Amino acid sequence: MAVVIVGDDPASRIYVNNKKKACEYVGIRSEEYALPKETTQEELLALIEKLNADEGLDGILCQLPLPKHIDEKAVINAIRPDKDVDAFHPVNVGKIMIGDYDFLPCTPAGVMELIYESGIDIQGKECVVVGRSNIVGKPMAMLLLHDHGTVTICHSRTKDLAETVRRADIVVAAVGVPELIRGDMIKEGAVVIDVGMNRLPDKRLVGDVAYEEAAEKAAAITPVPGGVGPMTIAMLMKNTVKAALLHHRDK
Ligand code: NDP
Repeated sequence: MAVVIVGDDPASRIYVNNKKKACEYVGIRSEEYALPKETTQEELLALIEKLNADEGLDGILCQLPLPKHIDEKAVINAIRPDKDVDAFHPVNVGKIMIGDYDFLPCTPAGVMELIYESGIDIQGKECVVVGRSNIVGKPMAMLLLHDHGTVTICHSRTKDLAETVRRADIVVAAVGVPELIRGDMIKEGAVVIDVGMNRLPDKRLVGDVAYEEAAEKAAAITPVPGGVGPMTIAMLMKNTVKAALLHHRDK
């Protein structure tokens, strides 16, 4: 796997280090390409082209966000879909939409794995996803829908967030607002999955859910840190192994 990082964002550095550590742990060879923040879009695209053509590499991961002067969409579109272990390329996004995919985006896939491993049945359940980003909220909703959930997606223009979340049997919060989802918004016995990772001024890391309050009502709830985060990395490893199998199955 090639791991590309541009600039010196400290959070991105931590994520990249964790991904490299996970590769080492499971036995995947990783190569890091750390580029300075002044790197031009052309230079980054040239590197991606080189990695696309390298038959010794099965996966390419470009850590987001990229510096403002680089068009993220152009970079995502440049990665070969069969090496796109983040599953952000439009081809992979389209495949997820029709339910016929090679890779799932890591965070929503990690959430599904948590639900399956906990023996929670999604079929017919009211599922509320808070957040509609391309990398978490939208694919999350699609995966819950594939598993026959009745899915509602909330966002910043949703009129009554509290009332909508209160209906949910399964809540997935992917907002990026510390502890937005309060205990009084959770139905008794609901499953609460917190994707949020928010660094407070006092350096504490908290989710999008007020954990203590919500835990009093929830049948099951994920903590932050230590819930969805590690699952995201595990799913990245799974996608990379899958990419290798796809590339080498005929050899
Ligand atoms: P984005 O900022 O891309 O999207 C946030 C979404 O939340 C948007 O759809 C936005 O609505 C919605 N939103 C913002 N404020 C409100 C509000 N007050 N009420 C309802 N909806 C609101 O974030 P991401 O999806 O990339 O990430 C979400 C969170 O998950 C972040 O904390 C991030 O750090 C974390 N994360 C964690 C990962 C992990 O591995 N655990 C991986 C990826 C992300 P609108 O579209 O209308 O603007």
